[in-house]
Amino acid sequence: MTDVGPSRTELNPAQQEILDLLGAPIEARPTFDAGLRDELRAELESGVAHLAPDLDPDEAFFVSKHKLSSVHGCEVRMLADEAAGFEWSIPTARGTVAHKAVELSVHWKGEPTPSELVDESLGRLTNGGDGLAEFLQRCTEVDLVELRGEVLDRVTKFVESFPPLQARWRPVTESRARVELAGGRLVLSGKVDLSLGQARGTTAGKVLIDLKTGGFAPSHLDDLRFYALLETLRIGVPPRLVASYYLDAGVAHPEAITVPMLQSTVARIVDGIERLVGLAHGTVAPALRPGPSCRWCLLLADCEAGRQFTAEGGWD
Ligand code: SF4
Repeated sequence: MTDVGPSRTELNPAQQEILDLLGAPIEARPTFDAGLRDELRAELESGVAHLAPDLDPDEAFFVSKHKLSSVHGCEVRMLADEAAGFEWSIPTARGTVAHKAVELSVHWKGEPTPSELVDESLGRLTNGGDGLAEFLQRCTEVDLVELRGEVLDRVTKFVESFPPLQARWRPVTESRARVELAGGRLVLSGKVDLSLGQARGTTAGKVLIDLKTGGFAPSHLDDLRFYALLETLRIGVPPRLVASYYLDAGVAHPEAITVPMLQSTVARIVDGIERLVGLAHGTVAPALRPGPSCRWCLLLADCEAGRQFTAEGGWD
């Protein structure tokens, strides 16, 4: 591959740290068995085979990282959130606007300022034809000033702490992956924020990066393992590394990909799909699982388990 390697650009220590993390000599990269993809797919297919009669042959059942983390959390909350529907707000929009600005920075010719990137991002998203565009068009001037300020802070931190991406690293933003199971009735889908590098033969070389606007959560590791599995099912070679990059803190949490990790991810996906299909058909009762997210749950006021968890400081 055209590798992630030393840059000719003068880097600050934070950028150098990320560059050192992303790069690895070819001899230090793991090689995987060429049959791994077929083995993992066979495990997935056999795990979901019994669900085929419950799946609509004409409409695929989509499974995303968000659905999986929701169903492995509190299922009661998941159903309440689904029933309430999603609404754009300043907090939900800022991540998308920041991601778009970062995406633009990767492909921008020259050296744009964070301000230029944020304005371009806001302009493009406001002119889109989706729900976010409608929300941005409805925002007051003060709302937009608040949103722009929050996004600018994050994008500035990204530009300051992430090394400038070189074309030879093959940077790709918003890279989508899709894997069909059960004859197309089940679809695993995902979109990773940034990928760098590529595999050589059966030697891993790609790095998948998810940009995060909040702090660390254990589910972020599961999200990246899900992407790693999709990548393995797609091309047959896992990524060498996955990492969450926290824009606020300017730090990365990396994880090397191993075969046992991919196998446990298959088990997590199969268990999650089983619950998602059962809940969609009403054949299983939603499980109540108090946890850190009780604090933001719509049902907290009326949920005794959640109130008890939060009263005991369970999120600390
Ligand atoms: S408050 Fe907690 S336990 Fe109760 S429904 Fe919400 S997330 Fe679940």
